[in-house]
Amino acid sequence: MEYCPKCGSELESKLEGGRDRPACPAEGCGFIHFGNFSIGAGAVVIRDGKALLIQRGIEPNRGAWQLPGGYIESDEEIIAGVEREVLEEAGIKARVSDVVGFRHAPGRGDGQANIYVVFRLDHIEGEPQHDGVETLGAGFFSLDEMEEMDKVQTLSTWSIQRALISIRESGLRPDLNREGVNMPGRGWSLFGLNI
Ligand SMILES: [Zn+2]
Repeated sequence: MEYCPKCGSELESKLEGGRDRPACPAEGCGFIHFGNFSIGAGAVVIRDGKALLIQRGIEPNRGAWQLPGGYIESDEEIIAGVEREVLEEAGIKARVSDVVGFRHAPGRGDGQANIYVVFRLDHIEGEPQHDGVETLGAGFFSLDEMEEMDKVQTLSTWSIQRALISIRESGLRPDLNREGVNMPGRGWSLFGLNI
């Protein structure tokens, strides 16, 4: 990275947090390039104690069952992104109610670190659909049913177990005031405050 993505100035090397990093010298800008990161999001959509899974139609792991989800665009709010992925992949309209957990993978060969955030969502409407290309199947399954299924991704079952436990232990309807916690249009979101 040679030029500042915020103001266009030529970047200079600056010692910040113990490492030399490309930094913007322009007064009042303050941009520092901390590295390459990507963000993914997975959705535990719960309906009547069952969770939505999709079956992968594309390699790697074609035929495996997993949570719907995908990458979040860099200019997209993460809640909107994960709800979009659920609609695109499974034809289900669902609404984020809380965070379940996350997986962090530090950058390796390509130098890009990834954070994969798993959300819990409430089913709003729609029946599971698959397109036969990207997805070979889609449906709501109980944990008992998943045990009988072939190739269910470990991260998916871990997430579903955690989501179901958090619903049980909170004793609450898994709804939250999105106006208070997610801040549409304000450019940021807060999570994990309602358990
Ligand atoms: Zn700048």
